[in-house]
Amino acid sequence: AIRAGLTMGIVNAGMLGVFDALDADLREKVEDVVLNRHPGAAEALIEFARTMKDEGRARSTEPSHDSIWRDAPVEERLKHALVKGITEFIVVDTEELRARLEAEGEPPIKVIEGPLMAGMEVVGEFFGAGKMFLPQVVKSARVMKQAVAHLVPFIEAEKARSGASSKGRIVLATVKGDVHDIGKNIVAVVLACNGFEVVDLGVMVPADKILAAAREHDAIAIGLSGLITPSLEEMCAVATEMQRQGFSVPLLIGGATTSLAHTAIKIAPNYAQPVVYVPDASRAVGIVSALLSATGANAFRARLADDYARVRDNHASRQTRPRISLEAARANALHLPWSTKPACDCPTHTRLPAPYTPPRPNVSGKIITLDVDLAVLREYIDWTPFFRTWDLSGRFPRILDDETVGEAARSVYRDGQIMLDELINEKWCRAKAVFGIFPANSAGDDIELYADERRATPVLIWHGLRQQFEPAPGKSNLCLADFIAPKTSGIEDWCGAFAVTAGLGIETKLAEFEAAHDDYRAILLKALADRLAEACAEWLHERVRRHEWGYAATETLDNEALIREEYPGIRPAPGYPACPDHTVKHALFALLDAPGNAGMGLTESMAMTPAASVAGFYLSHPESRYFAVGKIGTDQLEDWADRAGMNVEEARRWLAPLL
Ligand code: SAH
Repeated sequence: AIRAGLTMGIVNAGMLGVFDALDADLREKVEDVVLNRHPGAAEALIEFARTMKDEGRARSTEPSHDSIWRDAPVEERLKHALVKGITEFIVVDTEELRARLEAEGEPPIKVIEGPLMAGMEVVGEFFGAGKMFLPQVVKSARVMKQAVAHLVPFIEAEKARSGASSKGRIVLATVKGDVHDIGKNIVAVVLACNGFEVVDLGVMVPADKILAAAREHDAIAIGLSGLITPSLEEMCAVATEMQRQGFSVPLLIGGATTSLAHTAIKIAPNYAQPVVYVPDASRAVGIVSALLSATGANAFRARLADDYARVRDNHASRQTRPRISLEAARANALHLPWSTKPACDCPTHTRLPAPYTPPRPNVSGKIITLDVDLAVLREYIDWTPFFRTWDLSGRFPRILDDETVGEAARSVYRDGQIMLDELINEKWCRAKAVFGIFPANSAGDDIELYADERRATPVLIWHGLRQQFEPAPGKSNLCLADFIAPKTSGIEDWCGAFAVTAGLGIETKLAEFEAAHDDYRAILLKALADRLAEACAEWLHERVRRHEWGYAATETLDNEALIREEYPGIRPAPGYPACPDHTVKHALFALLDAPGNAGMGLTESMAMTPAASVAGFYLSHPESRYFAVGKIGTDQLEDWADRAGMNVEEARRWLAPLL
């Protein structure tokens, strides 16, 4: 073309193929068109493209179809499969090399130590350099795992010779009372890719079991994971127990509610050895390597101690931020105007906050259970958190075009869509919802839910917590009870209660993936189930606003607007910042019979099962909003304990993150 006069061309570098690697047939047809070799060339190429398109559509992003690499020597093939995350031929290739090595008198472990580790090193390097992202790493790890699974019986037979090639064993567990393990599983994969042997104890693991396993396996480190706030306390308990039992290995801390501050201030002081906060999976290897490094460990520990001292100092100085008494906070509650009549819209009154008449629900006091169609929920998914699960940051859908993570995001998104198709078509799991809208009034900081309109004895009392920080001028010290009409006002109000899950029966499929050493699909499935549970909460809330409560009967918001929460009213979830107490879930589950109606349960730390579940309350007031209670004083702790019928010590444990 240049010879014929071309001066500039635009090339999609992302799609550049190796010329020699092109299928001969395709190359021929493309050349016919480019070089205008015969009049029917274009039609022939279009015809050919049609066959390729159909093939391509149903395929996931797993790039096994460009098959030229199959002609390379087996070592190269293994390495290629690992770097590209292709499982299709891994067992065949692993076996080919193993058999050859056996014939040459070499042990099977050489398959791992040779091409597989070489591939893993490339993966590690790319990951470290930000050229590869978690979804791809997990796919590569899946290749490794399947190869290793094939080799294990041979290696076992060879055990005497194989020796320890691992950098050491690390025990990982989700702590007692918690069921969330996506992050932990990703960390396990990343560590295993980097030559550590991971002993994964699963979820809801009590301290004694973790420590016994650490001894049994001679662990070089212990990693704890957890999502809900009571797990923060449990982690402190594990650290304390490690100290008591005289452990000397480092403790790693990870999970969504953990933080550097919590690790430094609450956990680390309980244990004399390093307690390290691992903010995300990509940091795990660097941290463990630094901790164990013969030359750098002391420097790392010293730096850690300095960092923690600084965090504690900062925290201590921030503690001086004024906090007011519970009494003063209550005196500064938000007083919304209430009315038995709908607001008048004359010019004078529209300038004032309109007195609010709580809308009467179409069904009050009735408990309604629904089987929810997963295909409907799909349309309600908020995808942004899905990418966060994979450590890919950015908002959906823009993230798909992101310069740095776009390609990885598109790939995992496409795999997610394909799995979602299968999940829905083959009913891998089921979703259920149970809810009710109850007559309710506030009584001080509590919200009382009643069985019927007589509003006599409460069927549930939700003991609220109130902000106690020094308010900015003109601001109130909020409590969720402020958004419900006070009992003393004589105004009738209502409060909804709901519990939804999308994880019923998911275990079968997960077990299948685990048996196939397919962490990628297992993690993908859990991430999708979490998305469907949140989508179910969104879907149900919309339905309740439009129908069963009916105060927004004509609402038509698209999914974007739902995600932006443009609707009136909120659905605060116990354990979140406006209502950080988890224990109310006990009463909530009892009121709705969530176990009987929706197959849901609670652990001793108030984590919900299945893990893909959401529960909470509905408040209708258009002024109602999410906020953070923040730190509370001993006065409120004692007052709350008294109202909740707990002794102060017990209350202190549940509210520890607020104290
Ligand atoms: N679209 C998101 C929705 C979940 S996060 C997703 O799919 O993940 C938003 C939800 O978290 C809210 O609906 C509410 O249930 C809860 N929430 C958020 N902030 C809260 C707060 N401060 N207090 C109580 N609940 C809160």
